[in-house]
This record gives sequence, structure tokens and C-alpha cells, in this order.
Amino acid sequence: MRKTFSQRVLGWWRLHGRKDLPWQRDPTPYRVWVSEIMLQQTQVNTVIGYFDRFMTRFPTLEDLAAAPLDEVLELWTGLGYYARARNLHRAAQNAIARHAGLPQSLEALVALPGIGRSTAGAVLALAHGAHATILDGNVKRVLARHGGVDGWPGEPAVMRGLWSLAEALTPSRQAGPYAQAMMDLGATLCTRSRPNCEVCPVNADCIAMREGRQADWPTPKPRKTLPERQIWMLLLRDHEGAVFLERRPPSGIWGGLWSLPEVATRAEADARAYALAGGRPACWRALDPIRHTFTHFRLNIHPLTGRLHGPAALGVKDAAQVWYKPGQPPPGGMPAPVVSLLEQPERAIAINHEDTNI
Ligand code: SF4
Repeated sequence: MRKTFSQRVLGWWRLHGRKDLPWQRDPTPYRVWVSEIMLQQTQVNTVIGYFDRFMTRFPTLEDLAAAPLDEVLELWTGLGYYARARNLHRAAQNAIARHAGLPQSLEALVALPGIGRSTAGAVLALAHGAHATILDGNVKRVLARHGGVDGWPGEPAVMRGLWSLAEALTPSRQAGPYAQAMMDLGATLCTRSRPNCEVCPVNADCIAMREGRQADWPTPKPRKTLPERQIWMLLLRDHEGAVFLERRPPSGIWGGLWSLPEVATRAEADARAYALAGGRPACWRALDPIRHTFTHFRLNIHPLTGRLHGPAALGVKDAAQVWYKPGQPPPGGMPAPVVSLLEQPERAIAINHEDTNI
């Protein structure tokens, strides 16, 4: 008699699964939760360094809850999707205030900011050894291919079907190792492109394998043209090379991160720069535009750079503004395009004294 789906997956995992990732060594609910949030949009190899640094700085839920948001965002710089970090911080504070720790029920976990049903399932299964189901991106891919599940998983009806399937396949015992095994199967064999079906433990009854249609599942999101937005960013330096930064509002894109002053038109950019510099900045010119893609739109950033004629004319009284000297510890997290703008050698910015209109 053929082994069940979960028996085959577990048998494969015992031989080939990953068992030495940093969050697997001491799988407390806190460590599993942080790793799951980091892994949501990011590859394991990238997450490892971020996870280790995060745990060194915030070894416990209490440490995270007590930390200033700036420090959390700073440790997140480069991982992207900063709402994850803001939610992590808020959820830690809520969990301490309401439960004196991370709660142990699915309902209470999903009531915390940024914790969905799959993340809650992972915490329960991996850290508590409870009977719980996960359905992250990797597992969705395996199940959609294996079961030939049509429809984009972003559709609620498709998602409901995948959850039913995931729950039906989760074994009553060993839910923790099974959850880990499914994540590993999706990450290492049933990969997005070129899945390694030959050695897959569930290839015997996989519909995608049988029909040679691995590329058809999961059904991709229906294509639509992303809207575009234009913004102008001011890269203003003082006579010592310090750059003027502002903290963004707590919500919206890059919420709470430190960024360059931003306006919606070139005319506003000139006006803001002249106001900040107390006159037309020296070497005032445009840099090459940068394109940054978010889930719902594309952002075309038009950077403008210039220097103050003397020491910073404006006193920075507002706690949300700072003159930041690149190379010094940053005031908090910064969006990736701003980090790359600050990394440009100043020489490249200073050599051209001509103005360039965009
Ligand atoms: S047989 Fe191939 S497509 Fe099917 S689950 Fe395994 S790796 Fe994925």
C-alpha cells in the first residue's frame, strides 16, 4: 500500500530536510515568529544574517517590545517590506501588554498585527509541537502543483480550497516536522522554476508532474499594468558632507524610515531646496532617476543634489529631521533607494556644476 502524502514528505525530510537553520536550533515561539516574518518575502540565505543580528540585539520578546522603532527598522534595512518590521514591533508590545508573552492560541495569535493564519500555524506547530497547519508561499506552490489547483491563490475562493487541502493533508501527529518538511520541499525541490520532480517524494501522484505542467501552477496573478508615480528627492549636503534627512510619517510607504525630503514636482523641489539651503544650493543638479517597484505601483524617483554654501543655515529643531553624516551610525532604518543614493561617491555629485532640468 502506498504511503500517505505526509508519510512520504516526512520520510524525505528526515533524510534531506534542513535541520540546522538558526531558528531551528532553539525554536522558541518568539524565534519561530521572527523567522517566519522575515522569511515571508525573503530567501533563507538572506534571512540568516538578519535573523542572527536581530536576535543578538533583541534576544527576547520583551527586548523587542521595549526597543525604539528606529532600532528595529535599522536592523531591517535591506530586507524591504517594512510594514513587517513595524507590525513585529507593535505585535511584541501588544503581546506583552495583553498576554504577558506570545499567546498560544490561533485566535489570539492572528489578532496580533502582521500575524496571519499561516504564521500562527507555524508558531504553534514548530515551537509548541501543536497540531496546526501552515500555508506559506512554498507550501501553496507544492499543493497547487500536486493537486492541480487552478486559480490565483490571491482569490479568496482559491485560498479557501488550498487551506482545506492543506488541513486535510496535515498529519494528526508530527505536525511540526511536517510543516518544516513542506517548507523545505517547496524551497529546495518544488522550486518556482525548474522543480526537481525526479527526486520528489510525492511525484507518483503529482498532477503537474504527470501532465508536464509544472509551470502552470500556481496560477499567476492576472497581469495588470502597475500605475506609475513620480517624486523628487533632495540630496542636500552641508559643508562637511552631512545629508539632510527627514523621518517619514508612521504609516504609508516606508513608514517611519529616515529618507530624503520628497516633493511631487520639480518646481516644488527647487522651492524646498532653496528654503532649506537659504538660497539656491551650489552645484544644484539632477541625478539619474531611480525606479523602485512596490506591489501596487512603480515609483520613479528623480534625485536632485546640491550643497549648502556654508554651515547648515537651518537649526534642526524637529525630532523628525537630522543632518546625517554618511559612515556614522544611521538615525534609523532607511529605504533601499536612499541608501544607494547616499552610497554614491560625493565626487560624482560635485563634479558637474551645470544644472540639468528633468
Ligand atoms: S513532483 Fe514536481 S511539481 Fe510535483 S510536487 Fe514534486 S517537485 Fe513539485
